[in-house]
Amino acid sequence: MVKETTYYDILGVKPNCTTDELKKAYRKLALKYHPDKNPNEGEKFKQISQAYEVLSNPDKRRIYDQGGEQALKEGGGSGGGFSSPMDLFDMFFGGGFSGGRRRKERKGKDVIHQLSVTLEELYCGTVRKLALQKNVICEKCEGRGGKKGAVQTCPVCRGSGMQVQIQQLGPGMIQQIQTVCCECRGQKEIVDPKDRCKVCEGRKIVRDRKILEVHVDKGMVDGQKIVFSGEGDQEPNLEPGDLIIVLDEKEHGIFKRSGNDLILRMNIELVEALCGFQKVIRTLDERDIVITVMPGEVTKHGEVKCVLNEGMPMYKNPFEKGQLIVQFIVNFPSRVPPELIPALENCLPARPRVEIPELAEECQLMDFVPEQEMRRDRQRGNAYDEDDEHPGLNRVQCATS
Ligand SMILES: [Zn+2]
Ligand SMILES: [Zn+2]
Repeated sequence: MVKETTYYDILGVKPNCTTDELKKAYRKLALKYHPDKNPNEGEKFKQISQAYEVLSNPDKRRIYDQGGEQALKEGGGSGGGFSSPMDLFDMFFGGGFSGGRRRKERKGKDVIHQLSVTLEELYCGTVRKLALQKNVICEKCEGRGGKKGAVQTCPVCRGSGMQVQIQQLGPGMIQQIQTVCCECRGQKEIVDPKDRCKVCEGRKIVRDRKILEVHVDKGMVDGQKIVFSGEGDQEPNLEPGDLIIVLDEKEHGIFKRSGNDLILRMNIELVEALCGFQKVIRTLDERDIVITVMPGEVTKHGEVKCVLNEGMPMYKNPFEKGQLIVQFIVNFPSRVPPELIPALENCLPARPRVEIPELAEECQLMDFVPEQEMRRDRQRGNAYDEDDEHPGLNRVQCATS
């Protein structure tokens, strides 16, 4: 039991989720709420990053599970502090966004998009068309913002975009304040309104719709990146950043992927478990394969078998495939007609003899309901607490002991 679930709720995962599930949840939400896509959700972006930072660190997660947010704050050291949401994002996506800028000074930022793909698409490979909006340099003015020669360096700030004002605070005391240049509003250059480019209205860039073909290769995995070099937003005097497509694998109704293997839970009837059976499995590329358990072989409940080379194709080596792992779930009948029992007993291995001691107590076997047990525990706990204060109130205690 965890003390509080706030961080788990923020990421939309269960408290017992795996590291992979955490990563996937963070990836999805961080891309959705990144300030570039959702400028008004800065607070949400921060919460997501804090939750992920705590839960992705096994030590912090343990402290949080045991004592909640308070315990993290009291933990001291690095326990209470958080990285900046942007740094965490860059670290997670490995040099996306501003990470690229740091490596190469004159490069624009990368643009990251998530692309939802089915397991069938990852199995067979596909080409997906993606319509995107991106900033491109205005063709009309070639990114100048106005007619040739009409654009001049701002004379007021001399192209720095900033102005320094000096204020006299008192005798011998002055204060320097740096403000955005009021002439060019920080743009570093000015253009006469009548010479301004009509197409981009002086912004130098225009929004453009672009159709992109994304080749999803056989065997690609959830979270894999497909990079379109230099296809990010264009900006004057900057080398454009990359467009990065991050694959998001949709959950499949029948198969669960585990690396290159596929896992299938298959229900079989008791008669099939005892007497053998044949089953047809429809593969992700829509072939039918047949599995057979010969009469005489018994399949136990929960037993796991596999079919070689029917898992996921390996990336860049698609003729090699993982295994198809089949876990059998045996459907037991809920009742057996009593008149059939002698015949049934004749077929089955003999039952063991049970000696019942003379003083053995007869007791009743009930259906087990875990939630009910928890409720009873809580009631019992409360009853004891009350007993301390009111010794007369021990009715509940009697009932449960
Ligand atoms: Zn223009
Ligand atoms: Zn200026």
